[in-house]
Amino acid sequence: MQIFTQTRGGETPRITFKDSILNPKANFGGLYTLSNFPPLPSLDSLLNLDYATLTETIFSHLGLELDGLEKALASYKNFDNPLDPAPISHLHDQFYLQELYHGPSRAFKDMALQPLGRLFSSFAKNDKYLLLTATSGDTGPATLESFKGMKNIFVICLYPAEGTSDVQRLQMSTQDASNLKVIPIIGNFDDAQHALKTLLQDNAFLSDLTKLGFKISASNSVNFGRIAFQIIYHIWGYLSLVRQNKISLGESIYTVIPSGNFGNALGAFYARLMNLPLHKIIIASNPNNILTDFIQSGIYDISSRKLLQTYSPAMDILKSSNIERVLFALFGSERTKEWMISLDQHKSYQLSQEELQKLKTYFDAGFCSDQECLECIKSLAQQGKIIDPHTANAYAVAQTLPKDSKILINSTAEWSKFSPTIFYALTGQKANDRQALNWISSNFHLPLHPQVQSLFDKQELCSSPIAPHTIASTILQWLNE
Ligand SMILES: *Cc1c(COP(=O)(O)O)cnc(C)c1O
Repeated sequence: MQIFTQTRGGETPRITFKDSILNPKANFGGLYTLSNFPPLPSLDSLLNLDYATLTETIFSHLGLELDGLEKALASYKNFDNPLDPAPISHLHDQFYLQELYHGPSRAFKDMALQPLGRLFSSFAKNDKYLLLTATSGDTGPATLESFKGMKNIFVICLYPAEGTSDVQRLQMSTQDASNLKVIPIIGNFDDAQHALKTLLQDNAFLSDLTKLGFKISASNSVNFGRIAFQIIYHIWGYLSLVRQNKISLGESIYTVIPSGNFGNALGAFYARLMNLPLHKIIIASNPNNILTDFIQSGIYDISSRKLLQTYSPAMDILKSSNIERVLFALFGSERTKEWMISLDQHKSYQLSQEELQKLKTYFDAGFCSDQECLECIKSLAQQGKIIDPHTANAYAVAQTLPKDSKILINSTAEWSKFSPTIFYALTGQKANDRQALNWISSNFHLPLHPQVQSLFDKQELCSSPIAPHTIASTILQWLNE
């Protein structure tokens, strides 16, 4: 069995996969991570495994516990095609999409959160848990969907009141299971994420929870359980291209990932560390292009940046949490700790030239303006393909890559989650979600998923947005009801 370490070093208690899922908060402010990603068994031997067996094989290869995994993976029956939860489609020429949005909340977060809910529940046994999550719009719905109705697991979901689409908001605010509480907060996603981190370090709050008999946990993208599931579909995507005779076994491809908190890209990075033939992992950003700057210059500097609202809100992030795990894997805990302290204190840190070169052997990066994003949506729509704005950012960046390799673009959300932006890209006019959904659905003959369809008939249960400093008391009041 593999033992976890902490990205910022220090004494590590013996943490297992199960511990890292139930209690994802590491000491010293760091993150739990595996120290070793051994090369994959031969690709040949993986080629014809079904999705569940592939997952079990890779987990076992990484030394992760398999207890409860089979049941967890059965959650892919909630996907459009349980046997192929992350299918490939051909866009045009060398461009392929890996569609990661076929789960119940129609965004890629389901890929990990659907199985994670069941795994969490089987690990938690009869203990009472309070699960805290902060969302920029897609983690929230996916978490609520996965944990709804679970006995003994209570979920708090914080989301920025300004910054989600109607569909995303409704997916949260209409959830009526009694173990779920959704809290809109004043501010943007960084504020929501910060509020969550503060709660996890608030001793008075934590001791009140203990008195009520709760253990505390988080389902955010720092939870290693999510990362583990997010390694799998990158391998699956590659193997699917081989099975469909688009590439030969062992041929290198580019993968392009619309990124925010770097959870999806981290899964690809770990797969690459295990020798999946990814030529480079291309990190696509929107105008909040901190990751582009970092990967191109080695300087991560948020001191003079303000978070911009864009057409791709799930990527509106400046402090990209999972970068820390990349730094650890490439440069070790000492350097990672220095940089993370510098980020806290000076809002910036810098790699040496040598370190930057090493980073660049794995990654390259680019970004897409809001205008280009709309243009990409429009140009693909003219070929009959509707993509969401996040995917459009990645498509735009993919256009800059050499033409001699196949390019697998991660499509992270179904169009239905961001239909007003697509409507605007196609018509130059504003519409609300409902109008835009209907228009796109009928013009492009795209059926609406029943989950999305039914949202507009449900009652919204949310209260008005609250300030971050009142979150703790709001939660305690709810638990005491
Ligand atoms: C969460 C999300 C992203 C960003 O993924 P990270 O793992 O945070 O980098 C991109 N697109 C969509 C639609 C998302 O929901």
